Amino acid sequence: MVPHSDRGARLRGVAWGAVFAAVLGCRSSSAPPARQEVIDIHVHLTQADAVAPLLAHMTKHHIDRAVILASPDLTSGRGGSGLAGYRTGNEIVLDAAAAHPGKLIPFVTLDLGNDDPAYLAELRRRGACGVKLYQGHNLFHERPLDDPSHQATWQALAEKALPVLLHANTVRYRSELEAVLRAFPDLRVVCAHLCGSRTDLTRVESLMQAFPGLLVDTSHGSSGPAAEGFAHLERERAQLLRLFSRWPERFLFGTDLVTSGLNPTSTEMWDLQVESNMGLLKEDHFRFFRQTADQSARSLGTYQGLHLPPELLGPVLGQNATRWLGSCLR
Ligand SMILES: [Zn+2]
Repeated sequence: MVPHSDRGARLRGVAWGAVFAAVLGCRSSSAPPARQEVIDIHVHLTQADAVAPLLAHMTKHHIDRAVILASPDLTSGRGGSGLAGYRTGNEIVLDAAAAHPGKLIPFVTLDLGNDDPAYLAELRRRGACGVKLYQGHNLFHERPLDDPSHQATWQALAEKALPVLLHANTVRYRSELEAVLRAFPDLRVVCAHLCGSRTDLTRVESLMQAFPGLLVDTSHGSSGPAAEGFAHLERERAQLLRLFSRWPERFLFGTDLVTSGLNPTSTEMWDLQVESNMGLLKEDHFRFFRQTADQSARSLGTYQGLHLPPELLGPVLGQNATRWLGSCLR
């Protein structure tokens, strides 16, 4: 806030500033405000040779920064089971981020219950900004999220105030998630895919109500569950808009892009994925695969988007992520 007595001086300064700007050929004070920064907080960077296509994709879609998530072999399309290969995944994102600091923000992953805080500390020294956790996904769920063997890592994440992106299946493991959030209220968690509640907004609302620090991402990914989510949210559009208005600071944009399986058609798929995930927030209508009565979601259809007003769109597309990522962006 500028004190009143300073305002006149400021306004006069602006006028002179415009004159100087015109003379010097630099931006005048009437230049349009800088474009709002866009951050995709949910990108699985699965291999080193995907970095260049990812950067080109970000430029094409005006995405300023991406949180790149270390991914186990299973997520990366390399087969395997459980978290196998996740340490290789950590190396991939640390290397990519070191080559593109500030643009690609590295999130490593951990095996809760098996990695000790010393491994996390080492990854942080090497540039890790935050942590992506998979063990709330049924394919990676070996023990309850609140298992005693996980406590040391939750504790370290909370103490260091690290941003955490958590996949949590809140149909199966809601009570485990709640136990973790109750035990570690300082955890800075974004719960992915509307906290696993794309088809049940009442569930995500009750979680957000119970845990005021809990953030959620709006990512939908690329396949059947995304089509199901978009269709449900179209029907529940009014309820979702109400949640955005109630908690504008708690929703973060993400796409859940997975960079594996690069081939000539994949950039088309990437375009569709980002355009639909962003379209949900930004547009009146957007395109994505749509299920029909006689076939599963194989052909493109149109969905109604939220078309959020600027005061809600700016926070979800970038401002909330900027706050969450904090010192990682400096
Ligand atoms: Zn994901």
